[in-house]
Amino acid sequence: MVPSYRHFLVPRSRSYRPSFDRVAALVERLRADRWLLTRDDPAFEQQLDYVLHGSHTQTGGFARLAMDNPTPGNVPKTADVAIPIPAPLTATWLHEHVDSESTDARFAEIALVFPLAIRDGGFAKHGLPYPFTFGEQESTYHAIEIHLARELVHRRLGDVEPIETMCHCGAELGWDPRADDPYPGDTLLAIESATRIDHVCPACGATFEPSGVTAYRFAIVIDCGKGWPREHAPIAVRPEFRKVCEEMTGTELDDTGEFS
Ligand SMILES: [Zn+2]
Repeated sequence: MVPSYRHFLVPRSRSYRPSFDRVAALVERLRADRWLLTRDDPAFEQQLDYVLHGSHTQTGGFARLAMDNPTPGNVPKTADVAIPIPAPLTATWLHEHVDSESTDARFAEIALVFPLAIRDGGFAKHGLPYPFTFGEQESTYHAIEIHLARELVHRRLGDVEPIETMCHCGAELGWDPRADDPYPGDTLLAIESATRIDHVCPACGATFEPSGVTAYRFAIVIDCGKGWPREHAPIAVRPEFRKVCEEMTGTELDDTGEFS
């Protein structure tokens, strides 16, 4: 079976999270440089049907937010729960959609998802930049996702040691965002397949700064699914993509990839 691949870029200081102003400016810069596509880009029409005709992809991207599952017991269709991201994206729109003050930290999270699925000759043929160092000649797809969370999102990548989640005062800071759901999946999450770690200890007030690449409050994720570049070389992010992301977020970024 062909594995799926995801690449994560996270701030060097894992608890750093750029402001909504910076995030909106990042999205608009990525759109201007064509790392992301909006409807008015000539290459938009060259995409596979699920992007070209998806009711939630008409602006080039959609948001995932935590919400009660409208179809309990069943996984809803993405289009039924996705929220189209406007072009241009503004900090005001983010403030309106993210419940930053919620007592439930899950509702203070958002994922901005921008699918790209280029047929007929790949990114290079359409003059589009490709976020990896090779593979731009292939007809391929990925989604560039921007994750924002109030607490730390903790991913357990295959062969990476789990992070120690206990504060120096002895309090356990790790938690399962599914733990309080009476039935699994009752609450849809903005960011799935990860646990959480409080970034400030509720017992002693200390700030928790995790080690390792697998915890973040902000991440740029290139989710390739099975559309990862097929050369026999380590998959690496194109320096131009890293540079623009670092410039717009105001932080150096570390990165890692995961096949699953
Ligand atoms: Zn503590």
